[in-house]
Amino acid sequence: MNRSLVALHAHPDDESSKGAGTVAKYAEMGVRCVLVTATGGEAGDILNPAMNRPEVAENLADIRRRELDEAAAIIGYKEVEMLGYRDSGMPGSDANRHPDAFVNADFDEALARIVAIIRSVRPEVMLGYDDHEFYPHPDHLRIHDLSLAAFKAAADPARFTEAGPAWQIDRLYAPVFTARRLYTLSDAMEAAGRESPFTRWLDSLPRDAADDRALTHVEMGAYIEQARDALRAHATQVDPNGFWFQIPTAMIRDVYPYEDFELLAESEEGDKPEHELFSL
Ligand SMILES: [Zn+2]
Repeated sequence: MNRSLVALHAHPDDESSKGAGTVAKYAEMGVRCVLVTATGGEAGDILNPAMNRPEVAENLADIRRRELDEAAAIIGYKEVEMLGYRDSGMPGSDANRHPDAFVNADFDEALARIVAIIRSVRPEVMLGYDDHEFYPHPDHLRIHDLSLAAFKAAADPARFTEAGPAWQIDRLYAPVFTARRLYTLSDAMEAAGRESPFTRWLDSLPRDAADDRALTHVEMGAYIEQARDALRAHATQVDPNGFWFQIPTAMIRDVYPYEDFELLAESEEGDKPEHELFSL
């Protein structure tokens, strides 16, 4: 299929936890998938106890780059572009004030780099972020702002004239975790006599939370394991016994084999495919 997708992410591992099954599916269909990662994940904690060793901490940026390349290959990304900023860390942490931190980078400089990639790849679909009510990491909020700005700027021939001819992306989506998805999976775990891994989020998310976002549900049940393998490739960030892996793949396939995407912007209003990001 002669189509392209550009996915914008904040940190190494985000590409594997947000929409990875869907990207794997499109990559297998022949879509050229290009990953753009803004930072090196330098400020992220080592969340896997088995990897919490001094030699890992000393070489964290290199190790995370190798983990990212491995994860991207598992998902099926053809190219990985690093924007080269530093992880800004969680709100209020010292990493926020580092001069190379993504949050401190000039907005238009970052925008110019993203626009150049879009105009070179010419994707029909771009993935960015929503405004992250559950996870207000400053780098994620920046990706939200940049993805909306890049969608507009790439199509405007008067902007960034040195970055190649203007390109209009059809649609910009954000992978999202909906109340429906979290409760459906949680209920299935509890019905099987097991503890839900989502309890800490569900406390702040009512079961009947109205989801009035424009959502597209992409069936990706055949790609759940591939997405999990990509997450496991981030061995310094992802605990192989952590919450990501507690729901059996077969259970997800049975009750909710979808990833949900919010439509953030589109080139023209009109008919959209109900269960796909591309007009196939
Ligand atoms: Zn992140």
